[in-house]
Amino acid sequence: MADKALRGMRLGTQSMETAAGAELAARRDVHYDCPNGHIVTLPFSVEADVPLSWECHCGALALLRDGDRPKDDNTKHQRTHWDMLLERRTIDELEELLEERLELLRAGRLG
Ligand SMILES: [Zn+2]
Repeated sequence: MADKALRGMRLGTQSMETAAGAELAARRDVHYDCPNGHIVTLPFSVEADVPLSWECHCGALALLRDGDRPKDDNTKHQRTHWDMLLERRTIDELEELLEERLELLRAGRLG
């Protein structure tokens, strides 16, 4: 019983500070533009999936500023259409399909 009480106290007083201080690596500021004119700036790890919107302190939904979208190809979290395609087809199959389509195209039978 006493054990439980102690554990509860520890949880309440623990802070994230040590963990946050340990990994200061690779962060960037991401900006969200609130429709009410506020700017929300949040530090994200470069490896984090940055949400496209964030709730502003005024309660409105602030939208991710375009220039802040991650452009480096280190981010492999998002699957592209190409990735999904490769999960269903092999390169060989795709080449075959491409060849078929090209033949149709050359024959003037497409679109
Ligand atoms: Zn706002």
